[in-house]
Amino acid sequence: MAHTLTLAQRDGVACVACNGDRGYMVPVGTLDGIPMFEHPSCAAGGPQEAILVVGDTTTPDGLASVTALAYDVASRMQMPTVVAMGRQYDVRAFDTVVYDETSYLDSIDSTVLWAEASEADMPVLTLDDLEEFDLIAECTWCGETADDDPMPTLIEGVWMPARFCGGCIDEAERQERVNA
Ligand SMILES: [Zn+2]
Ligand SMILES: [Zn+2]
Repeated sequence: MAHTLTLAQRDGVACVACNGDRGYMVPVGTLDGIPMFEHPSCAAGGPQEAILVVGDTTTPDGLASVTALAYDVASRMQMPTVVAMGRQYDVRAFDTVVYDETSYLDSIDSTVLWAEASEADMPVLTLDDLEEFDLIAECTWCGETADDDPMPTLIEGVWMPARFCGGCIDEAERQERVNA
């Protein structure tokens, strides 16, 4: 494979898959003692079904506001939603980047991620922009139409959206009574 790599790739400055030299990359081995790098999104073959939320998380108030924004995004978009902590994120690994208008320029990390996403030719949106998306009202369990509000749950740092139809809620409550 060595002869197919560009000079920048052989020097360890460009992604071995796309030859881009910007953004977050991870080491993928060495060639003649030089570490080679690749974007996680290139390794995975494209973006995952998840949203990255970018804003200033360096203060307790900032973190609380960005976390609340991520909750709103998860419930609006019905997609797993990650709060960016630091800048070690390959923005192109995500379907969409949503930024906190009030704080994204307040930290270097969030400014860099916002700029990388803007350069990456991917959707970079505010919460207001998301209002234009139609809500997907499908039950997370059975896929039937659900009419209740979605309730995202924070699991290992990711807001996981969940929306349940009346039938599944009744069934869950029945199970709980049985198991109690
Ligand atoms: Zn790449
Ligand atoms: Zn259901």
